Amino acid sequence: MNNWIRQESKRKQQSPLYRNLVITDKNTPETLINGERKILAASNNYLGLATDARVIASAQEAVERYGTGSGGSRLTTGNLPIHGQLEQELARFKQTEACLLYSSGFLANLGVINALSDSETIIFSDELNHASIIDACRLSKARIIIYKHTDMKDLEKKLAEHRNHAKKIIVTDGIFSMDGDLAPLDTLNFLKERHGALLIVDDAHATGVIGTLGRGSADYFQANVDVTIGTLSKALGSEGGFVCANNETIALLIQTSRSFIFQTALAPASVAAALMSIHIIQSEPERQQRLLKIGMVLRKALNQLGYTALNGISPIIPVIIGCAKHAVHFQNMLNENGIFIPAIRPPTVPENTSRLRCTLMATHTDEHVQFIANTFRKIKHEQLS
Ligand SMILES: *Cc1c(COP(=O)(O)O)cnc(C)c1O
Repeated sequence: MNNWIRQESKRKQQSPLYRNLVITDKNTPETLINGERKILAASNNYLGLATDARVIASAQEAVERYGTGSGGSRLTTGNLPIHGQLEQELARFKQTEACLLYSSGFLANLGVINALSDSETIIFSDELNHASIIDACRLSKARIIIYKHTDMKDLEKKLAEHRNHAKKIIVTDGIFSMDGDLAPLDTLNFLKERHGALLIVDDAHATGVIGTLGRGSADYFQANVDVTIGTLSKALGSEGGFVCANNETIALLIQTSRSFIFQTALAPASVAAALMSIHIIQSEPERQQRLLKIGMVLRKALNQLGYTALNGISPIIPVIIGCAKHAVHFQNMLNENGIFIPAIRPPTVPENTSRLRCTLMATHTDEHVQFIANTFRKIKHEQLS
């Protein structure tokens, strides 16, 4: 092995930020973590659809019908009938003209942001945007201007400094993945119109979660978003990414977006699972309602206990601890009490904002939620005594 790799690997192992892989049996409210029974309160399987019998059956049927792999990229031999079908359903769901699938949300961001920008473009990006947006910006030839997190005054000032620049893109998470707060799409909508910018929203955590029937953050704010990125891997319980936009934008992406062109089409099982999930999300709105309701219950309970659970309406409830070591210690205490919530540390979040990113699923019972709140209370008392 190369010496520098050995040295670097060893250095990482000694760091308090060293990351370990734990084995989750499956993403259900009660599951096995490294073989031990725990309540899981950190999954992005928000609506419980990844283990829904109907979604599983849909994936199984697609495997029987089409096989396990799609065999080629969409532009060669991999374009199966269900790919177009899912794109139609997603476009209808998001109320846009068209949609295009990618292999993941990460690759959708890389492919879309790069295809829609060039060296003449300025991209205005929220400082807490997801890593895939950051990497997409780095890969692009555009000039990148970071604005303060959801700070519309800062964005407006920066847009105004480039008033005469023709090509401008504003890009933001819809629901921020580690803070659970919402981008103010009403104001963003206003600013993008005023400054003639293109607005791209990454709705990975908002799809199926907020807005009418789970349509996402544009619906929630009644905002006019030009391009919406999404993932099939969170509330939809499958795997894959997508982009929704008007016909011209999608047509351009098909010609120029490298992570669309040079990737094998999504596996049939993933597509069929997502098709069933989209159907369930729209026909069973009680799932979304329950998710938001128990999220509010837990958020309120944690704040009343004196924790810093950031305010908001989303099911992402970050309990800010501060230093990375304390966050890991807190994770261990929760674990000893039968709850699994991994500590989120830098570089995923800024220094001194390490946290327990608590998320709920619609399938958590009231007893689960109560147990989680009680355990946080118990730990607080132990710390004070
Ligand atoms: C999870 C996530 C992604 C990546 O989606 P994948 O389908 O898992 O690749 C992109 N953006 C945001 C905001 C996310 O939270």
